[in-house]
Amino acid sequence: MSEINRAVKGTGDILPADSYKWQFVESKMLETARLYGFKEIRVPVFEHTEVFLRSVGDTTDVVQKEMYTFDDKGGRSVTLRPEFTAGVIRCAIEKGLVNGALPVKTAYIGGCYRYEKPQAGRLREFHQFGVECIGASAPAADAEVIALARQVLSNIGIEKISLEINSIGCPECRKDYVAALKDYFKNNIDDLCDTCKDRLERNPMRILDCKSPVCSAIAAKAPVVTDYLCDDCREHFEAVKRHLTAAGIGFTVNPHIVRGLDYYTRTVFEFVSGDIGAQSTVCGGGRYDGLIFQMGGPSVPSLGFAMGIERIMLLLEAQGTVLPSVRDCDLYIAAMGDAAQLKATEICSALRTDGFKAQTDICGRGLKAQMKYADKINAAFSAVIGGSELETGKIRIKNMKTGEETEAGLDGVPDTLMSLIRSDALGDLEDAVLGK
Ligand code: ATP
Ligand code: MG
Repeated sequence: MSEINRAVKGTGDILPADSYKWQFVESKMLETARLYGFKEIRVPVFEHTEVFLRSVGDTTDVVQKEMYTFDDKGGRSVTLRPEFTAGVIRCAIEKGLVNGALPVKTAYIGGCYRYEKPQAGRLREFHQFGVECIGASAPAADAEVIALARQVLSNIGIEKISLEINSIGCPECRKDYVAALKDYFKNNIDDLCDTCKDRLERNPMRILDCKSPVCSAIAAKAPVVTDYLCDDCREHFEAVKRHLTAAGIGFTVNPHIVRGLDYYTRTVFEFVSGDIGAQSTVCGGGRYDGLIFQMGGPSVPSLGFAMGIERIMLLLEAQGTVLPSVRDCDLYIAAMGDAAQLKATEICSALRTDGFKAQTDICGRGLKAQMKYADKINAAFSAVIGGSELETGKIRIKNMKTGEETEAGLDGVPDTLMSLIRSDALGDLEDAVLGK
């Protein structure tokens, strides 16, 4: 196949037959976010490269290997967003949100771009849902954000998933920890991968997040950050745990979680599943108390998370969750002849105004082919208009499941269809039409 017929490696298409799943999942995400006061924010797909360099951190995989960076025609270096936090924080500083009433609670959905080795659950264009809670330092905020992630997952049908939490402390208590890590890794330096050898001086905590099996095995025995927390960070972490318990959320403490981005402080967490292979982290997040200041704003403690929607789709499939499907067509009107076609257009128009999903032939097909199409699109009801229907002013609306037919006046199709739907056992159709 030539390139013109082939999607770019690592990108995917969401086909019309599957888009209802994405619509369901995305609407649940934003709906659940609103229960906690999080409102949608939309930021650009690309930013000045500096926005990501300064926030994500220049020793991270994302910045070192994965960014889609290019010069635009004006010679500016821009980068397709590899994640949302940097752009949201850039916006919050630029538009003054950080100086207004805090906390500012934002939620987002959209595409992210990382030049990675494509495999199941790892793409070059993927989609994230996430939130940023700007200006909240209390442990209750950490628990609230985690509870929101948990509820999003359960509202879309994912119950079997585990929450792992950790605290990576503040820059103060991290000093001792980083020193201990350096000592430890120095003793193993010959076995580390080249990237990690480089990380040893610049940011040894990154080694804990290396995906190479040898580095991971060494990292597994490294000193753990929770042994180095200062009193404030320890108490904060303990309080987060108490709040999680109060919210009824189960968790395990995993002192090996450090997250792949540099800006995190104190609480970090992941939702992981054993059901989707190697790419097991569905959601990752944490607190980033220093980021806004580091990006040129005021010192405003904040936190957030991001979940990968493709991984969520894989998980839903692996766990056999059936998402509610949407009926594509309430009534299909087959028409024979020009006059009948005009009438069909008129009736469809009236039906759509009333909120019904109505379709008629737009391909100039014969009656048999039209009915075949009605079948194919799973129309709930169908009707035929020809010369005799135009003459009598009446048509028969057929229930495609039972074959039962009901007569309706040509001018009263919407009313008849409504009562048919009401009296029929087509529960989902009724819900859709009546807007329940
Ligand atoms: P990983 O360790 O799997 O590379 P990460 O730490 O780089 O993940 P984050 O930057 O925290 O991931 O992004 C949050 C979530 O976005 C991840 O938990 C995952 O669900 C999703 N995600 C990240 N990178 C990709 C990708 N290349 N393709 C699909 N989903 C991704
Ligand atoms: Mg990654």
